[in-house]
Amino acid sequence: MDIIKLLEKENLGKIEKNVLLKKYTTYRTGGKALGIIYPKNINNLVKTINILNENNVKFKILGNGSNLLFSDKFYDGILIRLSEFDKVEFFGRNKLRVRVGAGYPLVKLSLLCAKRSLTGLEFASGIPGTVGGAVYMNAGAYKSDMGYVVENVKVLTDKNKIITLENKEMEFHYRSSFLQKHPGYVCLEVVLKLAKGKRDAIEEVIKERRQRRIESQPLEYPSAGSVFRNPEGNFAGKLIEDLGLKGKKIGGAMVSDKHANFIINYDNASSKDIKELIELCHDSVLKEYDIDMKCEQEFVNWE
Ligand SMILES: Cc1cc2nc3c(=O)[nH]c(=O)nc-3n(C[C@H](O)[C@H](O)[C@H](O)COP(=O)(O)OP(=O)(O)OC[C@H]3O[C@@H](n4cnc5c(N)ncnc54)[C@H](O)[C@@H]3O)c2cc1C
Repeated sequence: MDIIKLLEKENLGKIEKNVLLKKYTTYRTGGKALGIIYPKNINNLVKTINILNENNVKFKILGNGSNLLFSDKFYDGILIRLSEFDKVEFFGRNKLRVRVGAGYPLVKLSLLCAKRSLTGLEFASGIPGTVGGAVYMNAGAYKSDMGYVVENVKVLTDKNKIITLENKEMEFHYRSSFLQKHPGYVCLEVVLKLAKGKRDAIEEVIKERRQRRIESQPLEYPSAGSVFRNPEGNFAGKLIEDLGLKGKKIGGAMVSDKHANFIINYDNASSKDIKELIELCHDSVLKEYDIDMKCEQEFVNWE
């Protein structure tokens, strides 16, 4: 029996078949995938993973696809989206803590916290990922990141155990976390600890940063945010710009002329166009400055 039928038979959650990945990635590129499943709860997530493992079908957790570059090839596996893991609960003394499901959108959470006069998550108001994707990436901006606000993370291990990892155990560093070293682990839920602030002041910071992003980033085009991590003591965007690569095009992909660390899909780019442009920027910086820039974005299904 084919894998989609097997999953459908178990009634684990909504399933979409033969999906076009450009609908699920912010680059708006990528080939098709066998399917996407939206498990209704943890039990169904575990059952889904068991069925996929028993049938040797590969799978990947998909957040909002805002840090992924899928190849143009068919992805012969199942993507698991945790959109149903979207509960939010404020609790504890003065309700300074929030327990939030991994599928919850980070921008929405940031705005919700602001509304409740909770400060700490302002940095996240322009990061278009899910809470789970943000924890996995240790997403951040303005000298802050998830590591500053996460208290603990509920995780499903590759042995189907549910454990809670405290902040220290999450090994948060610049755009990296424990989860990146444990690819079979799934972030289910997160507790953030915030502080009491003034709603007006928090919303003002968010408004001002939104304005800064609009002015400095090519938000009018599909992209996946910054392509490279900033090398120690340097800025990836500056290195690329100094080599005159702003506006450089391969196929429908272009190094943004607004911000050189963004590659945009300006005209029906393929993933291959984007990858080649990423490699060109990387290799040019390596050749000219002897700096081996690390890509922040993840390449999926290229092997
Ligand atoms: C316009 C724009 C601006 C951006 N600005 C920033 C910025 O300022 N700072 C920043 O850090 N990033 C930024 N990004 C990049 C991106 O939004 C972040 O990296 C974000 O955290 C990715 O979340 P996601 O849900 O889209 O994850 P995805 O891209 O879907 O997935 C990323 C990785 O996380 C894994 N993953 C997702 N959810 C889970 C889970 N529940 N459990 C385990 N693994 C999981 C996936 O398998 C994948 O390996 C920007 C992107 C765009 C398009």
